[in-house]
Amino acid sequence: MRDQQLSVGEGDSQESLDMDVEVKPEALLEPCKLCRVRPRNGNIIHGRTAHLLTCFNCAKRLHKFHAPCPGCGKIIQKVIKIYVV
Ligand SMILES: [Zn+2]
Ligand SMILES: [Zn+2]
Repeated sequence: MRDQQLSVGEGDSQESLDMDVEVKPEALLEPCKLCRVRPRNGNIIHGRTAHLLTCFNCAKRLHKFHAPCPGCGKIIQKVIKIYVV
């Protein structure tokens, strides 16, 4: 009596590696998303979070015209200037 065990497939090779690396470090060094000239130093604050993707001038303008945050579409509560030292 010969039992041929051909099923050696044990353990799924499904590795669910959740690699959330959407925010690249280089993205912070890119210029303002709107004018593409000035550095992104205008922090758009909404609630307890903020988006840093425009310069202070563009961020101020968005706030002035009651435009939503270009990053997530939330209402801009405040705009602050970032100083990197
Ligand atoms: Zn700008
Ligand atoms: Zn936002």
